Amino acid sequence: MTTEATPARDKTAIPKNPGRRELGMKATLLFPDRDIVDRFYVPLIYTACRTCYSELEPDEIFRRAVDGRIDPAKQQKLIQGVIESGHGSTIEHIVFTFGISGVSRTLSHQLVRHRAGVAFDQQSQRYVTFKGASTMLPTSLAEADPTLRERYEDQIAGSLELYGEMVAAGIPGEDARFVFPNATRTNLVMTTNLRALIHMSGLRLCTMAQWEIRRLFQLIRHEIFTVSPFLGSFLAPKCVALGYCDEMGNRDEHCPIRPHKDNVLGAWADKAKAARAAGRELSVR
Ligand SMILES: Cc1cc2nc3c(=O)[nH]c(=O)nc-3n(C[C@H](O)[C@H](O)[C@H](O)COP(=O)(O)OP(=O)(O)OC[C@H]3O[C@@H](n4cnc5c(N)ncnc54)[C@H](O)[C@@H]3O)c2cc1C
Repeated sequence: MTTEATPARDKTAIPKNPGRRELGMKATLLFPDRDIVDRFYVPLIYTACRTCYSELEPDEIFRRAVDGRIDPAKQQKLIQGVIESGHGSTIEHIVFTFGISGVSRTLSHQLVRHRAGVAFDQQSQRYVTFKGASTMLPTSLAEADPTLRERYEDQIAGSLELYGEMVAAGIPGEDARFVFPNATRTNLVMTTNLRALIHMSGLRLCTMAQWEIRRLFQLIRHEIFTVSPFLGSFLAPKCVALGYCDEMGNRDEHCPIRPHKDNVLGAWADKAKAARAAGRELSVR
């Protein structure tokens, strides 16, 4: 079958913001609610930080923080400094649990690659026999030449139909599922501590991340912001905290969020050379 040529994607362009299209996926913060976060989460992290520098016992520090005897703004200031210094164990004491639904298996395969500080439970394709498995349609295909999109949709529909026929013929679901495409949607519960969440967000909010997982982390960031704008402010592409981009694929700086490290080092080398030519050494302070 012939199709109209689809224009080749410009490899150096920033991927379109996946937030612009309704993808049918959800990320819901199941626990904690705003009240718990307000009352206990910042005091808990503060207690972890302050214990390192105080003669007081942790329970006393915690009580004072929860009672408001320690100004919440002061608590946040210490926490911000500690996070920015990379003392990450202090933010492993608080966790967030998300219900994630309607994401593709392509996404879940990427998500469960995160190992440290995160737990997952995922809908089983062995124990669930699907009557109507649903699938994800990528934007590039939604906007592609209609013939190509139709072929994609036919292929997906064919896979799901064959699955149904196999199950009806007595093939166990755990074997029939081999025909499912990567586009098949799935549900997960994910619990993560704040350190792991900041790390994952740094990688997955980056414009180099795949569009679907990037969208998921935009939804996750939105959920955290609704319970704590302060804690939500730490969820950002990794370049924001680093101050530079370390992605090889962005040497041309097509993503403008931060300068690429090669250019930062290049600018530093030029500055050092100019300083030497003027008879001075650059301070490394
Ligand atoms: C844009 C992008 C493209 C990717 N492309 C590919 C690809 O093509 N192929 C592929 O296979 N994967 C790919 N990945 C996945 C990637 O390689 C990681 O497996 C994934 O992002 C998990 O991150 P992490 O290793 O930081 O693990 P996490 O579990 O999130 O770990 C957090 C941190 O803890 C530390 N840590 C965790 N476990 C250990 C350990 N065992 N030993 C020492 N330190 C540890 C590390 O500092 C690590 O960064 C890609 C990821 C991104 C974001």
